[in-house]
Amino acid sequence: MSSGRACGDAAPTVARRSVQQAVALVLAMTLAWAPVAQAERTRFKPGWNLFSPAQDVEIGRQVSQDAERQLPIVNDSRIESYLNTLGRRLTAKAPGERYPYQFKLVNDRAINAFCLPGGYVYVNRGVIENADNETQLAGVMAHEISHAALRHGTNQASKAYAAQVPLAILGGVLGSNSIGAVLTQVGAGFAANSILLKYSRDAERQADLLGAQILYDAGYDPRGIPQFFEKLEAQGRGGHMPDWFSSHPSPENRIAGVNNEIEKLGGAPPNYKTNSPEFRAVRGNVLSLPTIGKGSTPARREERGPGRAGRPDLPSNRYQSYQNGLLRMSYPDNWKAYGQEGAVTFAPEGGLVDDGHGNAALAYGVIVNIFEPHANRYSQVTLEDATDQLIDDLRHSNPAMRISRRHERVRIGGERALSTYLTNDSTAGGKEYLWLVTVLRPDGLVYFVSVAPERDYDDYDQAFQNMLSSVRFPR
Ligand SMILES: [Zn+2]
Repeated sequence: MSSGRACGDAAPTVARRSVQQAVALVLAMTLAWAPVAQAERTRFKPGWNLFSPAQDVEIGRQVSQDAERQLPIVNDSRIESYLNTLGRRLTAKAPGERYPYQFKLVNDRAINAFCLPGGYVYVNRGVIENADNETQLAGVMAHEISHAALRHGTNQASKAYAAQVPLAILGGVLGSNSIGAVLTQVGAGFAANSILLKYSRDAERQADLLGAQILYDAGYDPRGIPQFFEKLEAQGRGGHMPDWFSSHPSPENRIAGVNNEIEKLGGAPPNYKTNSPEFRAVRGNVLSLPTIGKGSTPARREERGPGRAGRPDLPSNRYQSYQNGLLRMSYPDNWKAYGQEGAVTFAPEGGLVDDGHGNAALAYGVIVNIFEPHANRYSQVTLEDATDQLIDDLRHSNPAMRISRRHERVRIGGERALSTYLTNDSTAGGKEYLWLVTVLRPDGLVYFVSVAPERDYDDYDQAFQNMLSSVRFPR
């Protein structure tokens, strides 16, 4: 540094004194600056509210039950635990009430997320699929958490209710346990235009700014928020504005507003977090989740009647190749590959069906995924142990699943593998066969589940065999 040489040129005593002064000055500036920089951030306080924070939680709980009957919630313990771990990191920095925040994934490709009062946060798969990194996902979640922390939903409901009821009787009504009645009166169930989720522009602006603060305080780079906005804006120019923006006509204003707040925060925090290894893995899982096909609901299938009609076309004899970081393999050229990274699903059109509860299930096709077995205390796990752990895991979420042939030795891609046959109740009706093949690889237990209804399995067996024998692992 040039100042060092200047000191060296001066007499030693003077130099020492000037260094001491400089140190003292730097210390004073550090002490003075830190609180000032903190104080400059925008402060918020929740608006007028008729409800107590405990009633926020009660309202959120009631409406969430309604919401979850209507939404395709993804039941995947790994994704759910990832979202909740990330969410807790953020809510720890949220101001206000310590709500029992919880986070769930919705099987919907639209880029959207919402939060009910009391901290019930729902994130669409579209958000994770379109996020370039964990920070962008955390930014969306921090924005939603801010709506709950600032009590925007019940503030809206309070205003709507007050507009209908004379103030004198408000206290009496809300003091009793008539939340349900109040919500009905102001139209705050989980309807498309629910008052709990229709925020004002000002509420959106607050959630953007507080979201940036939460992101910063949790150790993430708050610039992830404007980056994600810009990305969505660019997609919106192609025609359809992503839903997360539909509440606000002008994304540019939101970007400018949040950038202004980030300037006050001083940019990114020191040593900010980048992607956790889990983000990439979970994003891979989300990308390979079955998509709910509107044309393949059970009702539609019945309309088309029994027989070949209504079932997917038979697998083509021509194959196309697929490659991800884990393996290379071929699949029929009239099928599609969903997903990337470690997890991928190959299925014909109509191979994914709605299970009648809004969840998509694979009725025809092949799932390739990776399972992390628990190692013993010598951190060794055999292919047999790992396979049994996986089967336990699968049976846990499929109680009707039974093993029909276990642990037959095969080879896949030149590696030792195990073949297991299982049966389960098919979402397409009747029983289904599952052929499970497992291989231990450096990343974990790679497994292939080939599935078809019992009555159709013979039509698919050859395609499954061809696919499995085409597998190659990188050396
Ligand atoms: Zn919002």
